[in-house]
This record gives sequence, C-alpha cells and structure tokens, in this order.
Amino acid sequence: MTAASDRVVPPGGTIGILGGGQLGRMTATAAAALGYRCHVYAPDADSPAAQVCAAATVAPYDDADALTRFAAAVDVVTFEFENIPYESVRLLAERVPVRPGWNALRVTQDRVTEKDFLRGIGVPTADYRAVSDSAALAEAVAAFGGQGILKTTRLGYDGKGQVRLDGTLTAEDAWARMGGPEGILESVVDFACEISVVIARGLDGEIAAFVPVENRHRNHILDRTIAPAAVADEIAAEADRIARRVVEALGLVGLLAVEMFVTRDGRVLVNELAPRPHNSGHWTIDACVTSQFEQFVRAVCGLPLGSPARLCDAEMTNLLGDDIEQWPELLRDPQAKLHLYGKAEPRPGRKMGHVTRLLSPRD
Ligand code: AMP
Repeated sequence: MTAASDRVVPPGGTIGILGGGQLGRMTATAAAALGYRCHVYAPDADSPAAQVCAAATVAPYDDADALTRFAAAVDVVTFEFENIPYESVRLLAERVPVRPGWNALRVTQDRVTEKDFLRGIGVPTADYRAVSDSAALAEAVAAFGGQGILKTTRLGYDGKGQVRLDGTLTAEDAWARMGGPEGILESVVDFACEISVVIARGLDGEIAAFVPVENRHRNHILDRTIAPAAVADEIAAEADRIARRVVEALGLVGLLAVEMFVTRDGRVLVNELAPRPHNSGHWTIDACVTSQFEQFVRAVCGLPLGSPARLCDAEMTNLLGDDIEQWPELLRDPQAKLHLYGKAEPRPGRKMGHVTRLLSPRD
C-alpha cells in the first residue's frame, strides 16, 4: 500500500501535514527554513498551522475527494496528531509516501495495542488490563488491590477520558465518567518523576535522540519541561536505550516521543508513545543544534538527521489559557524565548504558546 516509500524529498518540495495545531505550525516554520513548502490539511479554517503554510485544505479527515486532491499536491505526507482514520492513511499511502507509516499509527492509536507492543519487545510498563464494561472493570480493580487509573483506549489526551479509582467511586460510575466504548485499567505508578525522550529515525535507519527531560504536569496537562532531567546517569541511559528499542521495533521514519515514569525504586516504565513532535521537545527549538521540528522535517523528507546536541540547559513552560497575557513581561526577560501559536481564544487549559528559559551554558 505504500507509494515510493524510499523516496527522498529534496528542499523545494512540498510537505503535507495532517492536523492544524501548534505542532504543525512549528513544523512548517522549520520546514520553511530548509526551503520546503507545507500544505496543511485540517477540518478547521484559520488553524495555527494554516496561518504559516503555503497552502491549506479545510476538510474532515475522512473526506476521500479532499484527501485525493491533497495527495496530488504534496511530495510526502506526515501528521501532527495520531488519530487519523486507517482508511484515510491507506488512501494517501497509495499515492504518496506517508511518514511515519500506518504501523506506527496503528500501535499508538490504541493504549492496549501500544502496551501489548511494548511488553512484546521487553519494555516495561505499568500493569494493565483491557476492560470493555463495568463488570470487567470491577474485577480488574479488585485484582489491582482496589486502586487503578481507568483510561479510554483511544482518543484520550492530556488526562481527558481518565478516571482515578481509589475506593470512592463504584466501577459503574467510573465507567460512565470515562465516557469511551473501551477502556484500559492501569496500576497506579508511584513515580519519583516523569521523563521523556524525543527520538528521530531517518529513512536509512539512522537514529538520533535528544537528552531525557523531566516533565511536570498540572491538572494532567504538561506545565513544565526541565532539560536535561535531573536523574542518575543510569536512569538517563536506560531511558535512551528504551527509546531506541521502541523506535527500531516500530520501524518508524520520523519522530517519536516516549513518555516514561521513573519509579521511586529506580525503574523506568513507559507510559505513552507519540509518533510526532511533542510538547516536551519544544525546548529544543532554542537550546539544541537541531530542533525537534527540523529533525522531524529531515526524517520525513529522507535527509540526514541533524545533531541533537544541547547548547545549554533549558526550562520550557506552557502558556495555558490566560497565561498568554504575560507576553509583555516575557518579551522583556533576556533569558526567555517566547513562542505564540496564533490562537484567538484563550480558553482555560488551551495551549496558547510556550516560553523557554535558557539556563547555564552546558558544562
Ligand atoms: P496520559 O494521558 O497517559 O499521558 O496521563 C496523563 C498523566 O496522568 C501522566 O502524565 C501522569 O501524570 C498521570 N498518569 C497516567 N497514568 C498513570 C499511572 N498508571 N500511574 C500514575 N500516574 C499516571
């Protein structure tokens, strides 16, 4: 089902991006710096990505006619979120290279498939059970000692579709609150910190990883990324090893973010995979030789990967909702690099921009 899967797209070509959010916007900006044009495909007009792309298609993700025209207008297709329907990916892949391909999407669209895949390649995760109704949930919670985190199997993000079970909710109430047709119950990980590795794999199999970073969340949404993560060298090395194993096993061409827990007893467990640029990689724009977005463009177009080396330590803070009103002070701070996403309406919790503070030069 793949079209010219080994084709290099040299600068001057057009990259098609499915998804119109800030990840697409920052990808398009990095692509422009390497001489590419981008064509965004998203259901909403005036999306953050469309504002900076040479062309835009405004259509639903399952519109076969629009997808066919889009495929004819671009040299390669990628995506900035992973919930693209299978039929749409197939239609595109018959006409134009899609990177990463269907396998990476298939595995990462579904939390159970993802965890089965991870366990299958020997990568540790929290204990989990697939549950398809409240009776199965009640049984699984009992097996996990009365505690657990219920998540929707598909389409959840930033803590949406997640319910904590700790004895205060019945299985029926938790099931109703989750709001999805299929669920996964995970054991509650007693973590010391959360870290992630953003890793790229090129068309020729070359791999380059950014340093592991620490992620701190507020209300389930990423608040801050601290680069590098202040973890022991062995933990950082283990996180890097896991990310390499996963990206190779997926055979992915593009970028992969691997979110992990570091447990209090020193183990590294994978929580989630995202086959695209990731919020925890935004610091690389200002603090690395090659940003995650440039690396993504290089990988997707079949170019050599860039150096992921860190120029300085950094701390990235998301600007959510009204936080965007801080922009005048942030512009006056000599250590702060401000990035705004062009979103008009600052709804609570909405990612409006981010600021990266550049810290000491690397020792
Ligand atoms: P997720 O949507 O899976 O990335 O989860 C959002 C956040 O919820 C994570 O970043 C953690 O802070 C927390 N979380 C998710 N799963 C677990 C778990 N099994 N144990 C403890 N905390 C979790």
